[in-house]
Amino acid sequence: MGEAHAAETFPSRNVGQIPVLTLEANKAEEQTAKHTDAAGVKCLRAHYPYAVMLRETVTDSQPQSRLERRVAAAAEAMLTRDRSVCPVEVLAAIGWLPASLVDDWRRGRVDHLEAVLSVHPDKLAAALDHLRRWAANQGLTPSEVAYVAATRDRRPLRFTADGDQATERVWRTHWTPPDLPESARARLTQQQSRAPDLVVIEPLNQWTCTGCGGSGSLLLMEAGGPLCMACADLDHLVFLPAGDATLSRRAKKASRLAAVVVRFSRSRKRYERQGILVEEAALEQAEAQCLADEDARARRRERDRQRRADQDVVLETRLAEAVLFLFPGCPAERAEAIARHAAVRGSGRVGRSAAGRALDEQAVMLAVVASVRHQDTGYDELLMSGLAREVAREQVRSDIDRVLATWQHP
Ligand SMILES: [Zn+2]
Repeated sequence: MGEAHAAETFPSRNVGQIPVLTLEANKAEEQTAKHTDAAGVKCLRAHYPYAVMLRETVTDSQPQSRLERRVAAAAEAMLTRDRSVCPVEVLAAIGWLPASLVDDWRRGRVDHLEAVLSVHPDKLAAALDHLRRWAANQGLTPSEVAYVAATRDRRPLRFTADGDQATERVWRTHWTPPDLPESARARLTQQQSRAPDLVVIEPLNQWTCTGCGGSGSLLLMEAGGPLCMACADLDHLVFLPAGDATLSRRAKKASRLAAVVVRFSRSRKRYERQGILVEEAALEQAEAQCLADEDARARRRERDRQRRADQDVVLETRLAEAVLFLFPGCPAERAEAIARHAAVRGSGRVGRSAAGRALDEQAVMLAVVASVRHQDTGYDELLMSGLAREVAREQVRSDIDRVLATWQHP
């Protein structure tokens, strides 16, 4: 469509400019090509109509630099499409920021965004300035958006190498049309400031947890290295494979803590979504909502079958007895649930360790504490809100102690 439009827009009255414009279009085409991944899927940002770029050049009588025209064209297209313009996406649109590198940055794998930008600092400063002036000329309204990392600590993302506050603010500023109602602007800003999903990786190769030296079928990448689900405090969550959008959406909504599971596809050279991790209760609630349809029933049966296969009934019974011995006030069904969870085959949880199998008091204690932490305190909400694990644990410590005390001395 860009091609056809471009042809229509070429005006005969300004023939002198055509070669330059063609060059510009070719250049953009090249950059578009770079954004096409191995599967031939064009990235979101690759669809900027060159016609906008051309029209701009032809009708504007002000002398403009090539960069200024490219920035204005990208910004204009973005404003039409999203009712909002921001530096990161404009630079992506002009080909300076490939989506995969922006993704690395959002996931906290690079220190700051400028580290992945391969343009000269002067050129970058000029582009940011062109955008700011273009937005001001259009009478757009600036608002600051929070950029948080898709990491467990949800730390603020950095744009610049030196952390200069003024420049950081320029990067964080999004522009919206002045006629946008204030409530809509606030909603948009809130939406854009939301932390991206936590991402858990299904690794292809052997790996070692930097927390405990163990391994597992899933890992969370943190700045210090990969963490197993137990060390990341995500091992109480259950996996829901992708495939049923309604069920996934409901489960994620009901879950206080959730993560997206991805696996790297060697053939497609990108991470692909495998499903989500959610709280078991949330999944059950979502399933109950979906049970009316037969597919959901079949999936439920499959999950029950899998759960039975993973069950170690003997260990479970002994664990439940040990829990009740240490905590006589713990409700029996709760003791069973704690034991069932801790004894799952291949989970690497407390109950599966050598100490747990020998029913070491300390190991049983750990299983009970973990259960109380996740179910009887605000711990999961604190984690989801971005609080560091250690701080969250400190905050819920007295709540855990209170529950344990009533269970110990009913
Ligand atoms: Zn670990």
